[in-house]
Amino acid sequence: MAQVDVLPEVTKFIESDPRMVIGGAAVAAASGQTFDVYDPSTGKVITHAPRGSAEDIDRAVAAAREAFEDGRWTGLRPGKRSEILFKIGELIKRNIPELTQLESLDSGKPVSIAAGEMWMASEVFRYYSGWPTKIFGETNPTADDMFVYSLREPLGVCGGIIPWNFPLVMAVWKVAPALACGNTVVLKPAEQTPLTAVRLAELCLEAGVPEGVVNVVTGLGPEAGAALASHMDVDKVAFTGSTEVGRKILEASAGNLKRVSLELGGKSPNIVFADANMKRAAKGSMMGVFLNSGQVCTAGTRILVESSVHDDFVASLVEATAAMKLGPGLDETTGMGPVVSQEQLDRVTGYIDIGKGEGAEVVTGGERATDLGDGYFVQPTVFAGVKNDMRIAQEEIFGPVAAVIEVKDVEEAIEVANDTVYGLASAVWTTDLSKAHRVAKGIKAGTVWINTAGQYDPSVSFGGYKQSGFGRELGAHSIETYTQTKSVWVSLK
Ligand code: ADP
Repeated sequence: MAQVDVLPEVTKFIESDPRMVIGGAAVAAASGQTFDVYDPSTGKVITHAPRGSAEDIDRAVAAAREAFEDGRWTGLRPGKRSEILFKIGELIKRNIPELTQLESLDSGKPVSIAAGEMWMASEVFRYYSGWPTKIFGETNPTADDMFVYSLREPLGVCGGIIPWNFPLVMAVWKVAPALACGNTVVLKPAEQTPLTAVRLAELCLEAGVPEGVVNVVTGLGPEAGAALASHMDVDKVAFTGSTEVGRKILEASAGNLKRVSLELGGKSPNIVFADANMKRAAKGSMMGVFLNSGQVCTAGTRILVESSVHDDFVASLVEATAAMKLGPGLDETTGMGPVVSQEQLDRVTGYIDIGKGEGAEVVTGGERATDLGDGYFVQPTVFAGVKNDMRIAQEEIFGPVAAVIEVKDVEEAIEVANDTVYGLASAVWTTDLSKAHRVAKGIKAGTVWINTAGQYDPSVSFGGYKQSGFGRELGAHSIETYTQTKSVWVSLK
């Protein structure tokens, strides 16, 4: 074990029982209630967070509305907003050690991986800091005696409901573009991982974001989350989470027809052709499915392998999996941490049992890992002999479970890849250029990785086809989803 020393500022933050941030102030829930926050590596309670309710969401939305309408953010010179956003990115960067440990303690993810995510979060702010000065409308050719132009304007109060798998990164994907476009924000982090969202709101204030522009309400999904999704004074909700909850968000949005963007589940195909570089494909596929203990919406959980290399590939995959060390998040040598909660542990081990019952063959793993104490550890598990209609091939498990499915050729690979209700991401491993692009075109998914997996960049849009959701995050597309256009007609007569 190479356990890192917990930083004093992390201990202080946790021991002070984090508060929500509403209107620039650190506040408890109106009810005074809290909920427990666990360390998944030990199964122990580390702190308590305010259990925000509809009343707290009302307070936060009112603060965000006031901040939007009085122009304290929207009315700032774009260059000034740009400067502040850049500063948030720099503050995140400066606080990477602290944020990394908080994220690791809260979610169980290895510090080595969390540090990269914190870097990504800072980079997303730097990317969007370039946008305020580049968002503008157009002039439209109409009649000679008319002058028509469009304004690209912010939406108003934007809600963000985020999951527990990449807590800070998911928050930033929503907050940074929303702010770049001049909106104000109410963020509801997941109840499993509320800590870094609170720190983000504090860093926004430190960077000079006016009070009330970024508000964070911690609380439970069916309480605070549902209140935000159905709020009549919220103009948009951006949600990342399960497809099941995504449906509820969409229904809840109907009251005031708020804009909705949904980034939902996946059951992404990862296709390995016989002409692939096998070593690279095995390692890449392994990382693609087990990164973050498989708790990734884009995880390449269905590994489609061409028959002629099937057995060799499975052997390489098992070898690559064995090289990854399971352990607590704060251990620097850990490759894979625990899953996030007892609930998730039960769900994942339940699916492993379902896979065994369906007749799939466990080639490695297949059990809860009990030699690491009471943490929520699951062995990285590979099933072979999976048929695409099995539940372990169709349902999102959100844990370290891979299903290897044999396919005979390109046509069957595309057919099986698309035989899912989801369409978030996919990966293709081949050295044949034409085949790579043919498959990329044939797959119905928002992202295709060729000879790589799990790549993200602030400039590259991200989102789903089919029941993986709609709307795009990151890149220029996100700017479109946080703005609306107004056409102005001027008579020249
Ligand atoms: P998971 O199934 O991966 O735990 P969820 O989709 O349940 O993810 O949760 C993602 C986010 O949605 C969390 O912030 C959670 O609190 C929130 N949430 C859960 N249920 C609801 C709901 N009914 N309305 C609004 N938000 C919800």
